[in-house]
Amino acid sequence: MEVVKNNFFTKNKPYVIAGPCSAESEGQMLKTAFSIQEFTDVFRAGLWKPRTNPMSFEGVGEKGVQWLQKVKDETSMKVATEIATARHVEICLSADIDMLWIGARTTVNPFYVQEIASALKGVDIPVLVKNPIHPELGLWLGAIERLSKSGIKKIAAVHRGFYSHTKSAYRNDPKWELPIRLKEEFNDMPIICDSSHIAGNPFLIKEISQTSIDLNFDGLMIETHIHPKNALSDSYQQ
Ligand code: PEP
Ligand code: MN
Repeated sequence: MEVVKNNFFTKNKPYVIAGPCSAESEGQMLKTAFSIQEFTDVFRAGLWKPRTNPMSFEGVGEKGVQWLQKVKDETSMKVATEIATARHVEICLSADIDMLWIGARTTVNPFYVQEIASALKGVDIPVLVKNPIHPELGLWLGAIERLSKSGIKKIAAVHRGFYSHTKSAYRNDPKWELPIRLKEEFNDMPIICDSSHIAGNPFLIKEISQTSIDLNFDGLMIETHIHPKNALSDSYQQ
């Protein structure tokens, strides 16, 4: 598989992607953005949130796109969001969003991944693929292959840990052997560690991030919020 290790990921290692779990308001986005821009390459915020419980906050949707554009215009950062359907891809491409990621709940389904890969055909922006929720390397590899077959060259993996039945200090078990195997499979592909979703709290983020850097990962994804306790999603880990 040909992967372009573009300068997004080689510029200043570790490459930092940070921002809130969810876009909530223009004020929350801009305040968060201004406070992290100094050490962040890409500002992240989820517009469409795949939630286990339908009573949970499911994101502001399309209207958040203009807040991402504002962050892009008013700071030095690029902007990224999660896409789960062809429609999300279309909205983001027409709004000039710099980078997209496929979430853990989407990587599990080859039909969704294919729909996204087809919608991205001929597009030259970086696409990040999070590992699937459960520890199945094949689904992660398969999703990356699908994007590659669609002609996408700037692909990166995001390690966000895996669901586990056994009680642990982590929200999602890091199972480092899986991203290491993925790196062996695609050795030119950048890999980012999403320490926030692995930790599930702010206290383990430093240790997890350091481990990933020691393992030669290319960057970090860190969830960041101006008032973590009031966050509408993942409030305990930002
Ligand atoms: C997120 O990045 O906020 C998110 C929903 O992550 P994941 O897909 O890893 O659960
Ligand atoms: Mn989150």
